[in-house]
Amino acid sequence: MSKVQTARGSVDSSQLGTTLMHEHVFVLDLEIQHNYPEEWGNEGKRVADAIARLNELKSRGVDTIVDLTVIGLGRYIPRILRIAGQTQLHIIVATGIYTYRTLPLYFHFRGPAPAKGPDLLAEMFVRDITEGIADTSVKAGILKCCTDEPGVTPDVERILRAIARAHRLTGVPISTHTHAPLRRGLDQQRVFREEGVDLSRVVIGHSGDTTDLGYLEVLIRNGSYVGMDRFGIDTILPFEDRVNTVAAMCERGYANKMVLSHDAACFNHWLPERALPAILPRWNYLHIHDDVIPALKRKGVSEEQLRMMLVENPRKIFEEQSTY
Ligand SMILES: [Zn+2]
Repeated sequence: MSKVQTARGSVDSSQLGTTLMHEHVFVLDLEIQHNYPEEWGNEGKRVADAIARLNELKSRGVDTIVDLTVIGLGRYIPRILRIAGQTQLHIIVATGIYTYRTLPLYFHFRGPAPAKGPDLLAEMFVRDITEGIADTSVKAGILKCCTDEPGVTPDVERILRAIARAHRLTGVPISTHTHAPLRRGLDQQRVFREEGVDLSRVVIGHSGDTTDLGYLEVLIRNGSYVGMDRFGIDTILPFEDRVNTVAAMCERGYANKMVLSHDAACFNHWLPERALPAILPRWNYLHIHDDVIPALKRKGVSEEQLRMMLVENPRKIFEEQSTY
């Protein structure tokens, strides 16, 4: 057993239960929100809506979500703290940077070149994990970074290496965003390996966006977990393909290396809210329980394999943390 940090304090890894490994409560563009607040609307209503949705998820048997909202996605922990206080669901919050190409300009003159001093990034991540985020005392339980279509750009590489260093200093796991069709998970594994990361502590995210079983097998053979974590985003890959891929990987014996999630949110600035139900009608926190699990069972996936993907693998990912 290990202690895992959540928005309501630390819990034993054995208490995580059924865990969705890649979700968001809110994805926000904070500048838009401050200057054009109409779409976000009433703060109290948004908070109440999130509490209701998370409580519904808990009532359906989910015990924990990992909220991978970091810098670049509008992380604001005081609001998460308020929500966490009114739901029994555990919310694990993350530290890291979300970008596909470049860092915010804030970081350009703050390391890591010798003249600019040590890299601020790793220091920030470690502080979020060991001391807490801003003045909230909420500690991050996981590290997050991205490698999308543009690949390992100089700034993305700087982030990946800072994430790796913060991981090695604190022992918290790493979860990533990738562009799966371009096999970006392999680029991440290369950089992490160079930095001495144990790849079994890494979840290569959005791996469920591809049907390329060979690619998934290589990621797993290299040691990592793969995130089949965008159920409901059927515009990127249809439902049937997502289900068939997970079932095929289970058949090949990889249920012990997959985790399931939606990458959903209660509110997401990236997409016009009114159009969303028509574009992605099943993209919500309950899709896995309502539709995916029954479909996987029909494809021959066993209760034991489902338990691995939803309970045991998440617990193992958070265990074996070094103490700090
Ligand atoms: Zn995400």
